[in-house]
Amino acid sequence: MSKVAIVTGAGRGIGRGIALKLAKELDYNIVVVDIDEESASSVAQEIKNVGKDAIAVKCDVSNNEDVERMVEKSFEFGEVDAVVNNAGITRDSLLLKMSEKDWDMVLNINLKALFLINKAVCSKWVSECKKIAEDLGEDRPAPSAYPKRKIVNISSIVAKGGNVGQANYVSSKAGVIGLTKTIAKEMSRYNVNCNAVQPGFIKTPMTDKMPEKIINKFIAAIPLQRMGLPEDIAGSVKFLCSPDSDYITGFSIEVDGGLDM
Ligand code: NAP
Repeated sequence: MSKVAIVTGAGRGIGRGIALKLAKELDYNIVVVDIDEESASSVAQEIKNVGKDAIAVKCDVSNNEDVERMVEKSFEFGEVDAVVNNAGITRDSLLLKMSEKDWDMVLNINLKALFLINKAVCSKWVSECKKIAEDLGEDRPAPSAYPKRKIVNISSIVAKGGNVGQANYVSSKAGVIGLTKTIAKEMSRYNVNCNAVQPGFIKTPMTDKMPEKIINKFIAAIPLQRMGLPEDIAGSVKFLCSPDSDYITGFSIEVDGGLDM
């Protein structure tokens, strides 16, 4: 039976690239999660066209009721083995001009959502592990007694050094790294690996709205002299979801063309 991966914000951009790669190259069926139902359905159809199964689930990842419903649907769809928390937004302005509303919105979607989703999914996994332990008649079996599970959280390279105009975004993405390391420590005993990816400057609808002058300035600072593509990020997510990374947890991969060496 195919494994299932949940990918959030998968209606476009990096999330779409991740969903397609996991389906095509790691044999996953995909739960395509997005706040925009139409784009989620369209990506689910693309996945079906390459011979894998997919469902589209409309979900605001910052809303706990939506998240619980989405996680229930995902476990009904199949055996969820991986979660990629990719949905994210920007609401940029300088600290002195930043509204409380924009601070809260970015922190809720980019960070609180990961707490909600990872908690809901891990709770299902732990219940299953407890049944396995009971069947084995052991209180605390070694992690290898349980199925291998993977969480990948999408952070950003700006979490390392800060970025002008992004106090809310940088704080949320730095929080993602802390959350990733903590989940890695808490969930290792259940054979769950939790890692992060820190993209640099990637060509997606999120960056398409930036002025060309700023885009060119960024590209000039990238040693590999180009913007990244969603596939560049999808490649490292694929690695972190594959057996090749089974002994890696609490780690973060920087995929930024050398921008922050
Ligand atoms: P994107 O093109 O804006 O795509 C983000 C997707 O997430 C969209 O489909 C969006 O839906 C969805 N989304 C937004 N809010 C949501 C919510 N509350 N619940 C569920 N889905 C929601 O962004 P991207 O560039 O692919 O970025 C993906 C991730 O990579 C984000 O976490 C971003 O912070 C991170 N990242 C991106 C870059 C970059 O250069 N692009 C760099 C570093 C990190 P709508 O279309 O309806 O808004």
